[in-house]
Amino acid sequence: MKKLKAAVIGVGHLGKSHARIYHELPNVDLVALCDINPEQKTQADALGTNFTADYRSVLGQVDIASIVTPTSTHYTIAKDFLNSGVHVLIEKPITSQLDEADELIEISRQKKLILQVGHLERYNAGFRKIERIAKNVRFIEVHRLGPFNPRIKDCGVVLDLMIHDIDIILQLVKSEIESLDAIGINVLTAYEDIANVRIKFKNKAIADITASRLTPEAQRKIRIFQEDAYISLDYVTQSGQIFRKSGFAEALFGGKISREQIDIQKEEPLRAELEDFVKSAERGTPSGKPDLDARNALKVALDILKSIEENAPKPLHAF
Ligand code: NAD
Repeated sequence: MKKLKAAVIGVGHLGKSHARIYHELPNVDLVALCDINPEQKTQADALGTNFTADYRSVLGQVDIASIVTPTSTHYTIAKDFLNSGVHVLIEKPITSQLDEADELIEISRQKKLILQVGHLERYNAGFRKIERIAKNVRFIEVHRLGPFNPRIKDCGVVLDLMIHDIDIILQLVKSEIESLDAIGINVLTAYEDIANVRIKFKNKAIADITASRLTPEAQRKIRIFQEDAYISLDYVTQSGQIFRKSGFAEALFGGKISREQIDIQKEEPLRAELEDFVKSAERGTPSGKPDLDARNALKVALDILKSIEENAPKPLHAF
């Protein structure tokens, strides 16, 4: 089969991993890396591929592109690639605005191109396992905490971190949102550096999510409570446990709980994500509806930002 020609736009912290993986995939020919920072040429040299500072010079030269630049640039770059007939993987969040996401979805559908978004936790082997166990979810609690990273300058923790969990929760609780209530605090930047939201779904399930970039110890955990079990997953170690009532009689007399380690075959989520994208581009059809799912996650993230604004204390009157 003909190899797909690939480019990576933005080869900073995450883009360099996209480049490495494309370079390793047997059905991909990594033809160019693009970055406005000329120092990133060393990445291209190390992989024996071309480098350009202007992504427009690779339009028409490639079949697939990963866009791994700051969020505020996703829309323009993705639009240029889609308009020149290229399948696109945009890092999360899809865009900063809903109308931009809608326009990209429209172009990709008209041109029958794949528009996938880097909601990486979907490809975490741990999540893939618990997705099959989770049923009739009643309550989900998520903590995604980490130290401050000055690299992310154009958004707060809701669009940068919490969006992962919003996407995952929308996959697990298949119900519309009834209401949400959020708080966000900016400490080190002009955006919220810590945020918490409670989402109530129409089916009465509730999700509580906390995201922070102010916490020294990194933690990425989800706890799922459902009628017959409690499931916990650590995304970082890709390890999980499931707790169940061990038997009706024992549950009645002493409430014994069984605890089972979930068997997870660890793998690199980004590799699984890019393999899926490449396969989708080869087939010409996506796995599921990644574009609409990403748009839905962005809509909820923007509603959370609105709630944060509404709940912020109002400035005192100046006399
Ligand atoms: P980064 O700052 O390390 O890298 C971004 C790179 O893009 C830089 O090298 C910069 O010079 C380059 N760039 C900026 N504008 C450009 C343009 N117009 N053309 C070409 N290059 C340009 O940032 P990062 O942490 O790698 O984040 C990049 C994107 O990846 C963001 O959207 C972020 O949200 C996303 N991200 C996703 C995950 C995940 O888990 N899925 C993790 C980290 C980052």
